[in-house]
Amino acid sequence: MTWKRLFGPMTGRIVFVFGITVVVGTLASAVDNLDALVPGLIVGGAWTAAGAKRGLPIFATSRDRRAAADQIRTRRRILLASLPILVALGFTVLPRVPHRMMGTAFMLVALVAAVPFCVLALTECPRCHRHIAVGTGPSAPLVPFTRCVHCGEKLIGGTG
Ligand SMILES: [Zn+2]
Repeated sequence: MTWKRLFGPMTGRIVFVFGITVVVGTLASAVDNLDALVPGLIVGGAWTAAGAKRGLPIFATSRDRRAAADQIRTRRRILLASLPILVALGFTVLPRVPHRMMGTAFMLVALVAAVPFCVLALTECPRCHRHIAVGTGPSAPLVPFTRCVHCGEKLIGGTG
C-alpha cells in the first residue's frame, strides 16, 4: 500500500499522538467497556497510521485513462452493491445483538460499506494523481466519485 503525504511533521505528530491516545485509552478501559475495544482500535489505529505516515493511503489506478475509468467504475459498483447488504445486515443482525455489544456489532456492520467507500474515496486520480474525493477543490462534484475534486477529471468514462 502506498501513502500520499498530505500534511507536515507537526500535524503528523499531533494526529499520531491523538491516535495513540485513543488506542491506549481503549485498551485501558477494555476491562470495563469491552464493547468499545473494536471501534476504538479501528478508529485509533487509523489516526495513528495517518499521523505516522503524515497522510492517507492511496489506491493506484492504471496509467491508461480508459483502464483507470474502468477500475473506478468497478469500485463504484462494489460500493453501490454493499449498500443493500449494509441495510440487510442492519435490519437482521443488529436487532439480535445484545445491547452491551452494540458498538462492536455496529462497527463491524458499518465496515461492509465503509471499506469500499474508503477505497473509492482514496483512489488515485489518473490525471493529477491525488485522491479523487479527499479534500476540496474547484471541481467538488455534485455526484460523488464522478469527477476528481482537485482537477475535474471525469472518472466514469463513457459520455457526459
Ligand atoms: Zn485529479
